[in-house]
Amino acid sequence: MTQTTSIRNPKSEIRNSTQILEQARRYLVGGVNSPVRAFRAVGQEPLILERGRGAVVVDADGTRFLDLIMGWGALILGHAHPAVVRAVRKRIADGAHLGLTHHGEVELARAITEAIPSVEQVRFAASGTEACMTAVRLARAHTARAKVLTFEGCYHGHSDGLLVTRSAGVPQTLAQDTLVVPYQDLDAVEAAFTQFGDQIAGVILEPVAANMGVIVPDRRFLKRLRALTAQHGALLMFDEVVTGFRVAYGGAQALVGVTPDLTVLGKIIGGGFPVGALGGRRDIMQRLAPEGGVYHAGTFAGHPAAMAAGLATLKELQRANPYERLEALTSRLAEGLRQAAARAGLPAQVNQAGSMLTVFFSGRPVTDCSSANAGQPAQFAAWANRLRQHGVLVPPSQFEAMFLSTAHTQDMVDRIVSVCLR
Ligand SMILES: *Cc1c(COP(=O)(O)O)cnc(C)c1O
Repeated sequence: MTQTTSIRNPKSEIRNSTQILEQARRYLVGGVNSPVRAFRAVGQEPLILERGRGAVVVDADGTRFLDLIMGWGALILGHAHPAVVRAVRKRIADGAHLGLTHHGEVELARAITEAIPSVEQVRFAASGTEACMTAVRLARAHTARAKVLTFEGCYHGHSDGLLVTRSAGVPQTLAQDTLVVPYQDLDAVEAAFTQFGDQIAGVILEPVAANMGVIVPDRRFLKRLRALTAQHGALLMFDEVVTGFRVAYGGAQALVGVTPDLTVLGKIIGGGFPVGALGGRRDIMQRLAPEGGVYHAGTFAGHPAAMAAGLATLKELQRANPYERLEALTSRLAEGLRQAAARAGLPAQVNQAGSMLTVFFSGRPVTDCSSANAGQPAQFAAWANRLRQHGVLVPPSQFEAMFLSTAHTQDMVDRIVSVCLR
């Protein structure tokens, strides 16, 4: 009798958010696998999601949210887009992981080179972090120089050399070869080149920043970077992990008309699966092993399921060409958010690039990391938490962009604005 009652049927086990979270805390550090998911910046607990479809996600208690996180920008077609699901199902039924070259890698690489003319050849990786790290290694080998110039507030994944000031455990010996200057600060860039010109292998940046909130740089900034790198024999590297196939099919470089030597991609090109890619001029790319001496490898590099999901996504983007509609819808949201803030008497800046945007509760324009930091974190947290109470999920950090997808509608946007107006 006592024995039967102590045997639990796993199927009848209730798994609500509270129970999962308690277990998550025990078995995962901080209950998460990526720190922003802990919701600490807004004073909340990790949200346990169960599923997503279109623009909506559902948590483990069955609560629905209109999603503006969208897989941190990876899901431009929304959750579980039928074309992506179909392509992945078909692919994994024939072997999810082959471990050798397959058709899908070639197809996606070709689609990328057709979309982004500066990319003549591609190397796939399993994450954006890995692709950025390899881009820097390639630039160092190509120029036989050690230093890399980066910008405060840009994110290029979590490799040692690209995190420097932002993590414990990075040796000073590595940090000294990473120069960090404020975003859009041309004087600081010129000063760095004056001092270290013959030691700088390359400049890496987000051509539209999305990891200190959204910041659209002045076009002259990017043009000047192109001129300076060329003049000093350094490579210009655009980290388009977010902006590639997001702000335009051809990425930010198509919009600003500046051609980098190397481009890093990720997020959208995996259609919701783990991916990264590095591409650029053939003569530089040829330095990668096995053609050259720069090592990069990966058990899961060019993973068939990611290639299939990415290719299905790109095909759908090409077919539907949703960019104008997405931008108009996002402008409508941005304008609504500005009006709501004004009505509430809150100074706010809404920065937008295509289908991504950020609200900063600040009275002055946000153009770099220090002006982004001037936003009021408490006001942001209160705003984000109130939206969540009304069924709208925004990124739990001031510095993460909100993303719209093709699954978002005008009604949804108007609903978000009406919550903010309440
Ligand atoms: C997300 C991101 C990365 C890192 O990609 P992961 O796949 O998370 O490793 C690199 N650069 C930018 C601009 C990103 O937004």
